[in-house]
Amino acid sequence: MTTDQLILNGQTVADFMKEEMVAKVAMIKEKGILPCLATILVGNDPSSETYVRMKGNACARLGVHSIKVVLPAETTTEELIQEINKLNADHSVHGILLQHPVPHHINERAAFDAISIEKDVDGVTTQGYALNAFGAAAFPSCTPQAIIRILDFYRIQIEGKHAVVIGRSPILGKPVSAMLLNRNATVTTCHSKTVNLDEIVRLGDIVIAAVGKPLFVKGSWIKPGAVVIDAGYNKGNVGDVDYVSCLEQSSAITPVPGGVGPVTIATLIEHTIQSAYMLSERA
Ligand code: NAP
Repeated sequence: MTTDQLILNGQTVADFMKEEMVAKVAMIKEKGILPCLATILVGNDPSSETYVRMKGNACARLGVHSIKVVLPAETTTEELIQEINKLNADHSVHGILLQHPVPHHINERAAFDAISIEKDVDGVTTQGYALNAFGAAAFPSCTPQAIIRILDFYRIQIEGKHAVVIGRSPILGKPVSAMLLNRNATVTTCHSKTVNLDEIVRLGDIVIAAVGKPLFVKGSWIKPGAVVIDAGYNKGNVGDVDYVSCLEQSSAITPVPGGVGPVTIATLIEHTIQSAYMLSERA
């Protein structure tokens, strides 16, 4: 492999997805429907503000309308659910994204579950999560789907491989574990109570880092020739993987930035377009 082949470039994958999305948006617009994503941001966490801005910008580049609902940090669970219900009832909105995390006093699960399944373009509802586990979700969680998409785009075999996932959050670690299992990988899911983590990671043919800790996964944990996917995104534009040392050990690796992130955003918009398309087919 040349050095170029080692880097799993997420921007290349996102650009590839763009062509089909632009064509689909044109088709939907011909039917008089403008695909629309509504993002909800509660509070003023700077990283969340950046994510929401990036999602809005990406929508604009693809001809998708976006609405930004910004709520104060003191918003209650009930008030947030009221806002979600307004968007559920708004026929011009095709996808709803509640930016995670919300302030601690809010019941995030209740808020996620208030999103109607037809508009759950990030697969965050309990029903969306369950459908994903069965491999039947119209809109699987975006970051897990982005990870699978990168592996598929670069023709990395999943079936029969041992995938080690570090992290078990309901939006990332757990759904990506289920998706890899559905693709016939043998999956080990690790978390903060996992003992001898480095030894377990060393068994992985595919290692997915979804921890939320900068430069956490070290090159010495990586089996030579393994594929490393870094889903992390931390302050200072760094991932959960110590990129320099892991690059040396791996056969392929995603960079941060420019790895999982752009494909996650493209997937979110693709789901929104698909949601509008499904509506246009029923119209
Ligand atoms: P999260 O909800 O905080 O979950 C982190 C997971 O890591 C938990 O399951 C936790 O275990 C586990 N963990 C923490 N410390 C550990 C340790 N020392 N050893 C092993 N496991 C440990 O985070 P998340 O929302 O899943 O996000 C994970 C990362 O992905 C973050 O960097 C986030 O910014 C990034 N992210 C990126 C995208 C993207 O588009 N690229 C999208 C979403 C998230 P416990 O369950 O035991 O606590």
